[in-house]
Amino acid sequence: MKPVLIVGAGPVGAVCALALQQQGVAAQVLEAQPEDARVDTRTLALSHGSRLILERLGVWAQLDDATPITRIHISQRGALGVARLSAEEVNVPALGYVLPYASLTVALKRALGDAGIAVDYGVAVTRIESGSEMASLHAADGRVHAAPLVVVADGGRGDTAPAPKFERDYDQTAVVCEVQTELPHANQAYERFTPDGPAALLPKGDRHAPQGDSDFLRAEARERSYALVWTARNADAQRIAALPDDAFLAALYRHFGGRQGLFLHASPRKTFPLKLAWTGSEAAARVVRIGNAAQTLHPVAGQGFNIGLRDAWELASLCGDTPADAIGDAAMLAAYARGRRLDVLGGVGFTDFLVRVFSNDSAPLRHARGLGLLALEALPPLKAFVARRMMFGAHG
Ligand SMILES: Cc1cc2nc3c(=O)[nH]c(=O)nc-3n(C[C@H](O)[C@H](O)[C@H](O)COP(=O)(O)OP(=O)(O)OC[C@H]3O[C@@H](n4cnc5c(N)ncnc54)[C@H](O)[C@@H]3O)c2cc1C
Repeated sequence: MKPVLIVGAGPVGAVCALALQQQGVAAQVLEAQPEDARVDTRTLALSHGSRLILERLGVWAQLDDATPITRIHISQRGALGVARLSAEEVNVPALGYVLPYASLTVALKRALGDAGIAVDYGVAVTRIESGSEMASLHAADGRVHAAPLVVVADGGRGDTAPAPKFERDYDQTAVVCEVQTELPHANQAYERFTPDGPAALLPKGDRHAPQGDSDFLRAEARERSYALVWTARNADAQRIAALPDDAFLAALYRHFGGRQGLFLHASPRKTFPLKLAWTGSEAAARVVRIGNAAQTLHPVAGQGFNIGLRDAWELASLCGDTPADAIGDAAMLAAYARGRRLDVLGGVGFTDFLVRVFSNDSAPLRHARGLGLLALEALPPLKAFVARRMMFGAHG
């Protein structure tokens, strides 16, 4: 059988290729960027479920800079109601892990190389043609590749994307950077809802055994480092991102509050426009879309990559369970779409609900939200449900 073709060696495409190989199904990957491309500065919150997938692929052991999240503090600005989730309460070592996108992609690239999976770097796919027996890919270098299954994992950024079936513009942009706080993070993450959008602080860096004075100072700084995702209205985001450091830190303190003491340092800011776009997996015969290519979510509650990883894992498992001559056929793709529907639409609905219900200043909603947070804090079964939902998705 011809190898499955994967468009994009981002985290989802790479995980799909590795998981397929583990299932005994060969894959070939085409990636638009060169192998040594500078990678994204964003930080990902990986769920415990994603860790289990990366462990099974042998990638987790290569990630030495993942910071465990053992507690999550959820609140809303200017109103009552706080909820706290802890790993202890749900009996897991950590609710999730914070990891630089760059570390993950480097580890995955290495794993692809070690596994001998063919990756054509610097080759963009310009057109995808579906067909009843084979789909074909037209690459920018002029070559045409054909396969019984094409997996599109291009992050939804390629020119090959069909129009989304559902789209929502939140009028929100994420301002992203690293900040240092006065108080150590103690592995606690924050999600703080404000009328302009949620602000998240993700603990980044543990204190490792220091060797000398300078190591000690570095370790001190690490345990006060947070990745910040500050969601603002589009009209305000560029202004906030461009503030001089002192003004930015003061504005962040006013926005977020003093739970971590003062904000002491901030790295250069980057902005990411945010939207919801659901394209769905059943694009065309012999072609399936996964990860951000199928659904681009608001980063609230850190769901996007985790859902994409489950897409990749489930697709590879299904390929492994399907006879070789039926891989990519209509029945297999329909089974894949059916199997993923609940988890994906659950994630889309959950993040959309959070953004829309929390990003406004309506008094009745503010009180209802406060009651919701109080209920979450007071009801252990509800807490366990929410925590499991965030760790494992709808099948949690
Ligand atoms: C500010 C921000 C914070 C986020 N935080 C979190 C979080 O905490 N937790 C979480 O789970 N998710 C988070 N996300 C979402 C997460 O970043 C994405 O879900 C994840 O990166 C998607 O991975 P992917 O592999 O599908 O796409 P990408 O990471 O976009 O990778 C796509 C790859 O395809 C390649 N490509 C594109 N077009 C082509 C082409 N035509 N031919 C060949 N190759 C191509 C690209 O070069 C790239 O390497 C966040 C997103 C943002 C914007």
